[in-house]
Amino acid sequence: MKELTRRHGDRGTGGRFHHPISPSVRLPVFLFALVLLALALNFSAGAQSGKRSGAHSSVPRNNFSAADRNTVEKAIGTACAERIRDPLGSTPIDEMQARPSLSTSNPDSLAGAKRADRLLPMTRKLVANAIVQLAKDYGLYDAPALRAHVNAASARVQAVKRIRPNVDARDNASVLLRDPRTIEFGTIFLAGLKSDEAMVSVLGHELTHVASGQSDLLRPLFRAIAHRAAGRINLSISGQRAEELACDLVGLMATRQFINETPSWEPQSRRIARAVEHNCVDDDGSDEDHLSPRNTIRALFALDIELARELLTTNAQSTTQRRISLTARAVAF
Ligand SMILES: [Zn+2]
Repeated sequence: MKELTRRHGDRGTGGRFHHPISPSVRLPVFLFALVLLALALNFSAGAQSGKRSGAHSSVPRNNFSAADRNTVEKAIGTACAERIRDPLGSTPIDEMQARPSLSTSNPDSLAGAKRADRLLPMTRKLVANAIVQLAKDYGLYDAPALRAHVNAASARVQAVKRIRPNVDARDNASVLLRDPRTIEFGTIFLAGLKSDEAMVSVLGHELTHVASGQSDLLRPLFRAIAHRAAGRINLSISGQRAEELACDLVGLMATRQFINETPSWEPQSRRIARAVEHNCVDDDGSDEDHLSPRNTIRALFALDIELARELLTTNAQSTTQRRISLTARAVAF
């Protein structure tokens, strides 16, 4: 049966990600994790030198280069380092999951709810445009039938009018697809997204679920996006994981356009990083419906390598500016 809701950040509600581990199994688990880490390092070294594992032969290949992969990895490191420096950096999902519930009157949660309300109208517009743009980019806007589906989907986001804070939803956000007027937002999630950029990214994600709706209007687009990402990061991405990744991509595009339309004195790299920072976890587990948080950032930067490059370039510029201003201050004293 088709699910009636779509969730974001829902790994705390019974997926593999959040199973408690008893102390007696911690050491073997730790050793197993070390072995996995060694294998992962080995695999990534093999992938960078152009070798491919037979186990991944079903994943489509394309002309994504070793240098592009390197750019993606650097961009992940830069975004997650920026999160720590940024006073408005998002809380990672694994930290959110470990927190006690927050009441709706908690000041951080209230501030998040106000932010979500304020940004919803603009994000609706940005998401509708991003969906059409992606459909064009992926060659799904030429045939009249496909174009009609995409246009109907992008119009559906206008139905969403409200944000409803919910204590029990904790670090989740969700929408009821048969009545998509409200985005239900866990109070921990509202409090953990401290910047406009992070909020636009998550609202964009939820609105994309609404756009596709119960009739899966955007399924061909979701599959095309997942296919491209899979080829670039050597991971199989199918089913619900394809939809979740595509929703994140729309959220990222909406945030990028939001940054363009709302000039600020803040460094560009800081603003871009906020779109993905909630995925900067230490506990990088996946579940049936989602890639792991860090693989999500990896897939997003692989899909939008230009944005990954822009993040690195603007970060280098702001680091130079910081150094110059520190040197100037040192000279002044
Ligand atoms: Zn989702």
